[in-house]
Amino acid sequence: MTYVAAARMMRAMIFEAPGEPLRAAEVPVPEPGPGELLIRVHACAVCRTDLHLLDGEVEIAAPPRILGHQIVGTVEACGAGEGALKEGDRAGVPWLGWTDGTCEYCTSGRENLCPNARFTGRDIDGGFAEYTVADRRFCFPVPPSYGDEQATPLLCAGLIGYRALRMTGQARRLGFYGFGDSAHILAQIARWQGREVYAFTRPGADEAAQEFARELGAVWTGPSDEAPPARLEAAIIFAPVGPLVPAALRALAPGGTVVCAGIHMSDIPSFPYEILWEERSVRSVANLTREDGEELLAVAPQVPVQTRIQTYPLAAVNDALADLRAGAFTGAAVIVP
Ligand SMILES: [Zn+2]
Ligand SMILES: [Zn+2]
Repeated sequence: MTYVAAARMMRAMIFEAPGEPLRAAEVPVPEPGPGELLIRVHACAVCRTDLHLLDGEVEIAAPPRILGHQIVGTVEACGAGEGALKEGDRAGVPWLGWTDGTCEYCTSGRENLCPNARFTGRDIDGGFAEYTVADRRFCFPVPPSYGDEQATPLLCAGLIGYRALRMTGQARRLGFYGFGDSAHILAQIARWQGREVYAFTRPGADEAAQEFARELGAVWTGPSDEAPPARLEAAIIFAPVGPLVPAALRALAPGGTVVCAGIHMSDIPSFPYEILWEERSVRSVANLTREDGEELLAVAPQVPVQTRIQTYPLAAVNDALADLRAGAFTGAAVIVP
């Protein structure tokens, strides 16, 4: 029998199978390989994608897995190699965790579509733990004006949302369908850019979300089955609800675009061609590029975007996920190990 030094252990919440809650466990602190950083996690925001992973709507190919892909922490150790982030620096870890760098997408500025990409908290262990390891080339420096917890929602809700916002072009009258973590960040940026935000929430009384949207400068709020007072030039759908696509098309002016910002959506019902005609378009947004991240993290402090967060301890991540599903808070849920 050989004896090895006891590994340093950490607390983590582990995904084992779809439909099962994340399980609390003690696992070894990971070791950074070449080009990787060992990061002590200070905070990690919850994302709707985590619900899709949990429900099996987005597949985790090789469980068990530590979820969580909006991570802010401090670099504790660096594997071999050079990079901008050093020991002691604050690092942000987003959803895009690795790409091959050689495919037709990577070499044409579209690494978000890399067929071999690996994603944090899906293919690589993420931030619902005390430590994580990340490829340093895909980590971002965190803007100094943000606290750890406040910065986390910028890393996916903000960043992939920003990519969706960019796809609305010069549209001035913007509709947001679903007013959660992403929309609350984008509403501030859109307003700063001189646009008008029309916030659509769940049919029935979703007073809290509507009130929140008005606080952040929405010019109109209403249920998603209601027509806005003016035709929209673009709409972003954040809610994973397919019937919102024809609803948003009906609210669009000619030439307008509907952008679907989520990774998963229920089926889109069939609709008459006339609501797409007049050069309206429907498109989706997938993942992010590092360029998106650099741009959003430069813009956010200028606005300045203020994030609204609700914190949960690591052991309560299942409660945070349940609250997200129920729409029980406004803004973003953040796990603090
Ligand atoms: Zn996300
Ligand atoms: Zn690639």
